[in-house]
Amino acid sequence: MKLWDDVTKAASDAASKAAKKTSELTASAKLRYKLHTEQTRLSVIYEKIGRLYYDSIKSGIDNTAKIAELTAEVEAVNAEIARCTAKLAEMKRKRVCPACNAEIDKDSVFCPRCGTKQPTSTESKE
Ligand SMILES: [Zn+2]
Repeated sequence: MKLWDDVTKAASDAASKAAKKTSELTASAKLRYKLHTEQTRLSVIYEKIGRLYYDSIKSGIDNTAKIAELTAEVEAVNAEIARCTAKLAEMKRKRVCPACNAEIDKDSVFCPRCGTKQPTSTESKE
């Protein structure tokens, strides 16, 4: 029954590899969806800021406080976008250049797009 055991084990290994790959794809799809949602949210906030600014110029309403509030929201959404982008790159064994946001090799010392020296792993954990 050695052969049968080997066949069973091979099938089981293949199934667990497939399951792992599937869960990686699911996690990656979820992240890409989240990224898309955050980018849409960002566009909506920018549109609101534009409308508030337009209203304040057009009719003299002071919208400074509302615009400042939305500016803080932009910062939060941008941070979430950066987090998702970095996580997606990490799943592909890549990293994101902190200067130009290009997805580059994890071991790159300099960014091939903008030339920025990449932080070492100890520097990036500050
Ligand atoms: Zn770069």
